[in-house]
Amino acid sequence: MSRYYCPFCSSRYQFHKTRSDGVLICGQCGDPLLKKPLLNSRRIIGLVAASAFLAPLLVMIIFVLNDFTKESLPKNSESLVLLTMDK
Ligand SMILES: [Zn+2]
Repeated sequence: MSRYYCPFCSSRYQFHKTRSDGVLICGQCGDPLLKKPLLNSRRIIGLVAASAFLAPLLVMIIFVLNDFTKESLPKNSESLVLLTMDK
């Protein structure tokens, strides 16, 4: 992925050219390209949202695994799986 982007064109269809003086320009509109920030706010929001979804899931998995190790009888662990899947 390129570190430069054109703010005017769709990122999916834009292609980059180097002007005769060495400046990177957009191949579609001819405007100079902007440098991408390393961490854009959208990515940070995405990561926060993903971790908010994943954190309770990980906690649940840890609890289920703890219950599995406590219950040594195989028939009990089978009913536990049915209980957790029902939720
Ligand atoms: Zn452009």
